[in-house]
Order: sequence, then structure tokens, then C-alpha cells
Amino acid sequence: MKNKQLKKILAILCATLILTGCGASKTRETSREDFIPVIPYSETLSADEEKADALLKEMKQEADALYTFGTPYAVPEWSDDAYADTKLYSFCRMLPKGGDLHGHDDTMISYTRFIDVIRDRAEICLEEGDQYGYMYAYDNPDKPEGCVPIGEALDNGTLTEEELTAFLTLAGKEDQRGWDVLHARFAATSGVHTNEEIYKDLYEETFRNCVDNGVILAELRVLASPDDDVTVQRLTNIREAYYRVRQDHPEFRVRVICTASKNLKYDEDQAGLILDTAIRASSLVKDEFDPAKPEEFVIGLDLVSEEDTSRPLKEYTEYLTSEEVKNSGLKLFLHCGESLLNTNDTVIDAYTLGAVRAGHAFNLYRYPELMEKYAEDKVAIEVCPISNYRLDYVSDLRLHPALSYLRNGIPVCICSDDGVYLSTEPLVDDFYAAILSWDLSIGDIKAICRNSITYSGLPKEETDELMKTWEAQWDEFIADIAG
Ligand SMILES: [Zn+2]
Repeated sequence: MKNKQLKKILAILCATLILTGCGASKTRETSREDFIPVIPYSETLSADEEKADALLKEMKQEADALYTFGTPYAVPEWSDDAYADTKLYSFCRMLPKGGDLHGHDDTMISYTRFIDVIRDRAEICLEEGDQYGYMYAYDNPDKPEGCVPIGEALDNGTLTEEELTAFLTLAGKEDQRGWDVLHARFAATSGVHTNEEIYKDLYEETFRNCVDNGVILAELRVLASPDDDVTVQRLTNIREAYYRVRQDHPEFRVRVICTASKNLKYDEDQAGLILDTAIRASSLVKDEFDPAKPEEFVIGLDLVSEEDTSRPLKEYTEYLTSEEVKNSGLKLFLHCGESLLNTNDTVIDAYTLGAVRAGHAFNLYRYPELMEKYAEDKVAIEVCPISNYRLDYVSDLRLHPALSYLRNGIPVCICSDDGVYLSTEPLVDDFYAAILSWDLSIGDIKAICRNSITYSGLPKEETDELMKTWEAQWDEFIADIAG
């Protein structure tokens, strides 16, 4: 018998003995420390950061005590606001977060701030029927019978805060599918955006909300139109809202990733026609806040809508690899892997199409070799924890795969997605959930915030400038905690 075969048989015999309890188990020649995850970048922590890390451990313990079996862990609940009094939540409020790189249109705003903007300028339909709960700008010609001013209805009790929350957010979803409710909320609020002044004010408040939550860069997805003029007007309005905020906060930046829908109700060519308008608009609408130094305002392209019920990303390969897209100077930031289907492999398409960042990439864990590629090529993942939870991709955030992406060297950013509908304080709640669910350390948090600038869509010079601003904010934040 050959040596190799003999060894194999002996190994099987030994394993059998151990399994049947006949052999003593031996300790392995590795130390515990070999398996403790290290922070995902080679940076040593300062003495103050070490101190802050020790305090963060205490904060996590205090917050952890709020959750018992059967309580959704670390997700701020609709009715219970005990989390808001924890030290960890204050930490998350004050944390300089860098960029929020994944939010849609004007939804990076809290529910209460959204209401503040529209309450005296919009009406709500309170007559039973298809449009029950739908909201309209006061001058929207399509508003149906039975509409009443929102502010008035709230003041006289015809409409309660709870009812309005249920009309606007996923709070009232109960057993319904998250996406079905989200689609209904999009429809219920679209009538508010027809008034240009309300539209601009909603964006201004969205950006002020970002600044208040410690965000210095908002890269938002904006749905483009098949009509060139409409796309240009939309971008110009958003830019005006951004200028108003930058006036007060010169460090703040807004950049736009234009999107088209993958929804089956549109034919395959529709997305290309829409993104073409975005490409043309990108050369017309620049960030000229500082006229001496114009910068790109539109930085990329994407395709959106619920993946499991839409056209797969691969159907758009021809368009996304066309000369027109390649020569546009716009990068691809692609939604992918936001799916529970065991056949969904859009994380592969996003990679082969050359996406510089992946939106969600929730199911990337199914493809270990591709995970290595994401890590090697530094394809950043925009992780939206609360969105993934509310839209039913994960029933407990402790089981979310993002932690393994982070530990395997993939640049992870934390993002807010659709704050107003998810009823979150955008990004603050997401960080709270992530820090607690994944037991993140100060080093992890620092890496995540830093990733949101390193992997932004800004050119190098602007990235470096923004990084300096963030580093100064971070040092001050850490000194405050440690002090
Ligand atoms: Zn999204």
C-alpha cells in the first residue's frame, strides 16, 4: 500500500476515534488572538482613539440592554424611543460621518422634517378610495375631490400624527411586503413634487438634514426623465437648493447619480433614452458655486427599482458598455444583489460592467471568489442597514452580511437609502444599528467613514480636500469623547 493511502486511512481512523469519543481531543496550535478581527486598514489608533474605543464599549453595553428576545435588535422602533436616550445614540448623532453615498432623490430627510416643509403647502385626500392618503401640492391640478390642507387637518384633529406617519412611511406596513408598501408611498407623495418651490424646499431641507447629521457629502440618485428639458430643470432645481445650503456650510458638497427604472412596465430601450438625457444634462449643469472653480455636478449613472420584480441588470449590458456611456466621463454606481432570489447574480454583472461602487450587493456572500475581486479591486459597497431590514432582506441585522464584507477587506460605506419612507433619522439610525449589530469598534467606524470619502465619486483633488475637512472633524469628535 502506498504511503499516501496509508496516511489517509490513518487520518480517517483517528477522526472516527475522536468522533466516537475514543480519543482525547487536543488543543490546536493557534492562539485565540489569531482569530480576532483586525481593523480593515493599516492604521494605528491614537491614544485618544483608544480611549474613545473603551468608552464606546460601555456605550454599546448600555444600548444592548434595551433589547430582549423578540425585540428587533438595534433598529429604532416606531413606537419606542428609549434608544434615543442612550449615549450610543448621541455618539451616532455627533459622529462626523463623511458621505452618505446612497440616497434617493429628496428622501434623505427625516419624516418630521418632510412634514414641516409640506404641512402648510400640501393637501391630503381623506376620502375613501384609490387615492386615500395621497398628498398633493396645493396647486396641483390633478388633486382629487376630498383633499384637505394637511396642517389644518392636523390642527383640527381630522388627521392624527399617527395616521399621517402611516400614510407616509413604512410604519403601518404590518404584514405587508416592504416593497409593496414602499411603492404605495412613492405614489402617495409624488403629487407633492409638482410645485417647483416645494420641490426646491424639500431638497434644501434634505441637505440641511444631512449637514445636521454630520454629513459633508451627499451623493444622491436622481431619477432622470426621457425629456431633456425636464432632466435639466430637475438638476438645476436641486443645484439651487444645494447652493442655498452651501452658502451656510461651505464644506458641504452634493453630487448626483442619474437613474432610470428597470421596471418591467417600460420597454428595454427606455432606460437608455432616459440616461442619454442625463449624459447630455451633465455637461450643462455643473457645480459652479465657486465660479472660478467649476466642478462636475452629475458624476454617474445607475438603474433602479425592486430587483426581484424588474428587468435584470444584464439586459442593459449593451447600453452600459456603449461608446456613448464610456465617453460620457460618468461612472457606474450600480444597484445589485438586493435580492432574496437564489438565482439573482447581478453582483456579477455590476462587477463585469465596471461599477466603481455597488448599491447594496446584499447577496455577494453567495459568490466567494467574486467577494475577493470586490476586495482586490476596491469596489465599495453602499450598505443600507435599515432599508435592508425594513424591506425584508434580513430579519435581524446581526445576521446581515456586511460585517463579513468589511472583515474581508471590501470597502464598506453605510448609507441611508430612503430615510423619509423608512422613518429613520437618516444615517444616524443606520450607524446606530450597524455599530450595535456588528459590534463595530472605533477603528471600524473610522474606516467606514473614511471609505465614504475615499470611494466617493469626486475627482482626486476634491476627495483630498474633503478628506482633510473630515479628518479635522474626526479629531475634534474623538478629542471631545476622550477629553
Ligand atoms: Zn437604493
